[in-house]
Amino acid sequence: MSIEVESLSKHYGSQIAVNAISFKAVPGRIMGFLGPNGAGKSTTMKMLTGYLQPSSGKVHVGGFNVLTQGMEVKRIMGYLPENTPLYTDMYVKEFLSFAGQTYQLSNLNRIVAEVIERVGLGPEQHKKIGQLSKGYRQRVGLAQAIVHDPRVLILDEPTSGLDPNQLADIRKLIKELGKDKTVVFSTHIMQEAEAVCDDVVIINKGNIVANSSLADLKKDQDSTLLEDIFRKLTT
Ligand code: ADP
Repeated sequence: MSIEVESLSKHYGSQIAVNAISFKAVPGRIMGFLGPNGAGKSTTMKMLTGYLQPSSGKVHVGGFNVLTQGMEVKRIMGYLPENTPLYTDMYVKEFLSFAGQTYQLSNLNRIVAEVIERVGLGPEQHKKIGQLSKGYRQRVGLAQAIVHDPRVLILDEPTSGLDPNQLADIRKLIKELGKDKTVVFSTHIMQEAEAVCDDVVIINKGNIVANSSLADLKKDQDSTLLEDIFRKLTT
């Protein structure tokens, strides 16, 4: 199931945060959605998931229109927002069961146990979310995004605030998830994009300045370092 973005814009008053951007993300490939701070990444992510109404343009996910077929889209999509709104008073298991219930999953106990295993939350699963470190909270956020085994995953800065060991674990998990799902994830860390992405979209001041496979981008820009390309295109 693909994500198709067509001439998508968002205006905040007179500011154009996202300016008529178009791109396509496809199954089995991981797309890095890259840009400096303030470029429009989060605004775009929120429009992809239907949490924010665009000023104009369209988003289709698996053929469904995000604005008019929101329920269908939610069933096939997982979303990790930038600041994951987690219920800090809930226990990890309780929260994930609650998240699973909203998708009316059967075999909820088994599914929750599997997802806890998959994101490496085992040792912390009996704690309250408020008692977890940033890295483990991020894993809870990721677990709620994948609990219903969505075909499409949108991850907004999934590795922000993680230490190097946690970073490696989460990157590995994203890679694994990307084998059969359509994954779009945002980051401003170029080494991370380099390690994880098949395709990249670079956004700067609301405009797309690159949109291709990572390999083609390097060829076109005659550079082997994504960091150099990023700087050239965004400064
Ligand atoms: P990024 O995620 O790439 O850091 P954002 O999408 O958060 O960028 O922001 C893009 C631009 O839109 C920024 O200039 C930001 O200040 C502005 N912006 C974001 N949200 C709002 C809002 N709710 N009201 C006004 N301006 C906003």
